[in-house]
Amino acid sequence: MSIYIILTLISGILTLLLGLFVLGKNRKLRLNQVFFFFALSCTIWLLGSFMMLKSKTDEEAIFWDRIVYIGVVFIPTLSYHISLLFTKTRNRKYLLFAGYFLSSLFFILSRTDYFVTDLYKYSWGFHTQARFFHHIFLIFFIVYFVLFFLNVYRFYRKTKAVERSQAAYFLLASFLMFLSSLAFLSAYGINLPPFSYFTAVVFVFILTLAITRYHLFGIRVILTELLVGGMGLIWLVFSFLMPTVNLRILTFLTFFLFCIFGYYLIKATHEEEKRREEAERMAVQERALRLRTERLTRARDQFILSSQHYFRTPLTSIIGFLEMVLDESYGKLPEKVKEKLGLTSRSVLELRKRIEESLDISQFQIRKGKGILSLEEVRVEDLIKNVIEELKPQAKEKNLYLEVSFPENPLPKMKLDKKRMFMVFVNLIDNGIKHTLKGGIKLFLEYLKDKNSILFSVKDTGIGIPREELPFIGQMPFERGRKAKELTPLGKGIGLYLSRLVVEAHGGKLWAESEGIGKGSVFYIELPVK
Ligand code: ADP
Repeated sequence: MSIYIILTLISGILTLLLGLFVLGKNRKLRLNQVFFFFALSCTIWLLGSFMMLKSKTDEEAIFWDRIVYIGVVFIPTLSYHISLLFTKTRNRKYLLFAGYFLSSLFFILSRTDYFVTDLYKYSWGFHTQARFFHHIFLIFFIVYFVLFFLNVYRFYRKTKAVERSQAAYFLLASFLMFLSSLAFLSAYGINLPPFSYFTAVVFVFILTLAITRYHLFGIRVILTELLVGGMGLIWLVFSFLMPTVNLRILTFLTFFLFCIFGYYLIKATHEEEKRREEAERMAVQERALRLRTERLTRARDQFILSSQHYFRTPLTSIIGFLEMVLDESYGKLPEKVKEKLGLTSRSVLELRKRIEESLDISQFQIRKGKGILSLEEVRVEDLIKNVIEELKPQAKEKNLYLEVSFPENPLPKMKLDKKRMFMVFVNLIDNGIKHTLKGGIKLFLEYLKDKNSILFSVKDTGIGIPREELPFIGQMPFERGRKAKELTPLGKGIGLYLSRLVVEAHGGKLWAESEGIGKGSVFYIELPVK
């Protein structure tokens, strides 16, 4: 068998496989459907030519060449149709209809002796002789191919990126395919070896390249498909070329088995690919969501911090003015006014305290407690003495004792945020006073040698804390006990929460113990000596 014949066979099979592949990949796309019919026409042409070249008698050759023309007459119109779909051209439908009409006409004519008849015999084989309608058909063929090229070329000039590359590959592949039409020369007595059949192989190769690199026909292929396809093809060609019928059947059977194996292999790879794509998509989504959340959190934090600053500044001025008015710097005040202004001043001070607390809480939350403290060397005994001085009047007002017991030996000096720890001690002792009706408050300070830390405790004889509430002390949100709500209806559990944050930022611990309702409470703070 001559090399031409084998090449024709290979071209035919390759084109058919490509057509099936494109159709199988996206059956619903009109472009892929039309491409399939185009590939099918090419296959009829190529396999028909293969049979014709192999023919033993003239009649047989003429018969097969007439089969060839069944495919050939539709190729120009199908090419033109593809170009319309590929370039998304919606008008020019009339040219398309005219094309299909003419192709059908030539299909009928090609069955008669007015198209081709008799044979030219060449060293490599034969070809039928062109008759009158064949000449007309050639004009039609050239016109529609020119229209096809113009369409795709215009699209190539107009578009960018991937579509432009697709168009370039498409143009190149089609031009090579068009070269195959040199085969028509043999119908006019011109001896030209049928190398043109080989161009179909290149055509398929270039289109496959365009599919893998630029997703032509909207196809995404994976390497496994190409490998299985390539192997399968070689196997199939082999089964045709086997010298005996038995060997042919055997090779064909193994080819069939290989196809089944290939099918499952491709399917598995596809599923794997899908899972990977899904995971990738989710990762991208997650990243976007995280970035969005981070941005929102930053904006929220910024808003909280700045709005609290805005509250604090005018409040400080109000407090200053009120103090001056109360000091009667602007003249004497009637007793009633003085009294009411005194109450106002206390409320404003309370408000400022709350704002400062929540500003501090935001800072601790936003900056995770880092870089907020301004540490200095402090003698804890002195700090607590100052706190007692401040709170004595409140305890006295409620007839409560307020006692303190310091260790015999002075405690080591500690590095603390003086202002904030002062606030923490005030908070605990003030809470003791607030929640105690009878008795009083005892403060203990001791040094835990084994832990190299100090332990501060506030023991009151007040309302106590129910056992189930103890774990929530200093946590946010804090569901307050019924008894506490009666005593301090405005409390929100913010003071202890902030105290805990401050103590923890110092590396310490804050917790509470109580025997239960009515049995008093003890609040502890343990701070490491660094
Ligand atoms: P707020 O800031 O709302 O005044 P705190 O955070 O200081 O509140 O305390 C939260 C809650 O813990 C109080 O409302 C109260 O229910 C309870 N609590 C705090 N200290 C004591 C105490 N010494 N005895 C009993 N309950 C207390």
